[in-house]
Amino acid sequence: MNHSHFQAGLRYLAARGLNLVAILDVGDPPVQKALNQAQIEHAPYRRLLLVAHGGRMLWRAFQAAGGEGQTVDPIDRYSRRAVSTVMREFWGVAADQAAFLYPLTDHLVPLQQLGTAAGWSHRSPIGTDIHPDYGLWFAYRAAVLVKNPLPLLIAPMRPSPCDSCDDRPCVTACPAGAVGEIGRFGLNACVTHRLYHRSSCAGQCLARLACPVAVQHRYTAEQIAYHYGQSLKDIRRYYMEE
Ligand code: SF4
Ligand code: SF4
Repeated sequence: MNHSHFQAGLRYLAARGLNLVAILDVGDPPVQKALNQAQIEHAPYRRLLLVAHGGRMLWRAFQAAGGEGQTVDPIDRYSRRAVSTVMREFWGVAADQAAFLYPLTDHLVPLQQLGTAAGWSHRSPIGTDIHPDYGLWFAYRAAVLVKNPLPLLIAPMRPSPCDSCDDRPCVTACPAGAVGEIGRFGLNACVTHRLYHRSSCAGQCLARLACPVAVQHRYTAEQIAYHYGQSLKDIRRYYMEE
């Protein structure tokens, strides 16, 4: 694959809001460790393509492409379609040379470990990752194992914004006491609070909104309502049907 096709593929993804792309060597110890811990077979593959979105562009492009009307998991399908197109049409990766790990598979993919291996992100007190440029307004969109030796693309790791955040407003903003030390997010407390009738966190995360990092990339109210509405539906399905 020549350089211009590779760059054109990156531009194609960026135009669809998929503006963070890493290509990791499956043989790298942190990548191997993450995949082994998740019991993901990776022997025939050489690269791991990791795609994420940061900021508002994804929502704008997704709406321009028709939005959520037609299918279940519409953003997952949108992301997967864009990544498949780039691999096939720009990077010469045949369908039998790649295996999606995420989204829309049964794999439990260690996305946060892979995000760290990509040099992107750090754990935050609210359980999700934080990115130096996009703050908490950032999410993983696709992970694919690829047999072709695509050029490696790894960002230099930068410090976590949380390291210099002395006040930690995310901690005080959480009404459930779920947010505290990094690595000790209180998932049960958060879920319990979100399931209350007329919960203040039914359609938003007050802790996430309180974070002062990268506020210019904060999702629109419509996007926040969409994502938190989806996650509340998932929580209800999981906890109510148990
Ligand atoms: S408010 Fe501070 S500690 Fe909390 S996520 Fe944001 S940067 Fe990190
Ligand atoms: S959704 Fe609400 S309860 Fe859960 S972490 Fe965010 S602020 Fe706390």
